[in-house]
Amino acid sequence: MQDTNKDLERYTRQMILKGFFKKDQLKLQGSKVVIIGLGALGSVASELILRAGVKNLVLVDRDFVERSNLQRQLLYAEKHVGMPKPNAAKEVLNQIDTSANISIFVTDINSSNIESIVNKCDLILDCTDNMETRFLINDVSLKHNIPWIYAAAVGFQGTTFNIIPGKTACLRCVFSKVPQGLDTCDTAGILSTVSVSISALQVTEALKILTQKQFSKDMIYYDVWNQTFEHSKLLKNKSCPACNNIYEYLDKKEHSKTITLCGRGAYQIIPKDAIKLNIELLADKLSRLGSVKSFKPHLIHFKLEDKALSIFSDGRAIIKGAKSISDARSLYSRFVGN
Ligand SMILES: [Zn+2]
Repeated sequence: MQDTNKDLERYTRQMILKGFFKKDQLKLQGSKVVIIGLGALGSVASELILRAGVKNLVLVDRDFVERSNLQRQLLYAEKHVGMPKPNAAKEVLNQIDTSANISIFVTDINSSNIESIVNKCDLILDCTDNMETRFLINDVSLKHNIPWIYAAAVGFQGTTFNIIPGKTACLRCVFSKVPQGLDTCDTAGILSTVSVSISALQVTEALKILTQKQFSKDMIYYDVWNQTFEHSKLLKNKSCPACNNIYEYLDKKEHSKTITLCGRGAYQIIPKDAIKLNIELLADKLSRLGSVKSFKPHLIHFKLEDKALSIFSDGRAIIKGAKSISDARSLYSRFVGN
C-alpha cells in the first residue's frame, strides 16, 4: 500500500497553488491517460503529466529511438538509440516515479486496436504526427465519450485544442476530411522549444480537464520564434458525421498498406492481418544471414549489406535501402515471411 500522505509530499508546490486542492491532486493520481505518440510531443507530455501526479499511463508508439530524435525528444538518451520508444519512455518514467503504473504498446495504432487501447481511460493526449491517426482518435473519443487534446508542432509553430464530446467542436467539425500536403517534421524540421511549449500547453489543459476545472474552448496557435500567440474559436458543425454518431475512420477496418516514410528514405510495411511474431526465433534465424541487434520481445534490427530492416513483433517492418515499394515488399517476404 502507498503511504498517501508521504506520496503527496511530492506535490506540495502544486497543492499550494490558488484553486488547486488535495482533492484535485488525488483525482490526478486516480486518473488514467493514454498518450498516443512518444516523439517530440509525447516524450515531453508523458513526463510532465507523470510529474504532475497522473500515475496511470498508457504509452503507444510504433517507432524506435533514432539519433536525430535526441535534439528534441527529452526523455531519451544516447543509450536508447535503437530501442522501441515505449520501452525507453517507460524505463525513464519509472525512474522518475517508481509507483507509476505504465502500460506500453509498441504498435501502429489503427481502427482494429484503438478501442481496446483506450478502454477505461479518462483522457487521450494526441502526440502523433499525422492527421489520419487524429481522425481515428476523434472517432473513438466521440463514440466512447472520452475527452482528447489535439497537439501538433512543426517548424517554429504549434497548435493545440481540447475536444470534449458534447461540449466542444470536434476535429471533424473543423476538417471534413483528412487534409493533405501538410508540412511534417521530416520535411520542414522542428525547433525543440516549439514542441516543449506546445506540450506544456497541452498538459496544462489536461490537468484542468482531469480536475474538472474551466478549460479552454479555443484553438491555440503559438509561434515561438516570432512570439505570436493566437486564439481562435471553434464552432460545432451541425452536419459533422462524428458528432452525429457516424464513425467513418473507426469503422474503416482495412489497414493493410505500405507507407513511404518521407525524409527517412524508408518504407514501412504493415501486414494485412494482426500477427504476433516470435522475435527470438526470428533473431536466431536472421543472425545466420547478417547482423542482428535485438530488443526482445518487441523489436529487432537486421542489417544485410546496404539494407536495414527493423522488424516489430506485431509484424510491421521499417525497411531502409529498398529501391522501390515492390523491392521493400520482396525484402519483407524474404526475411519476415508473407
Ligand atoms: Zn464534430
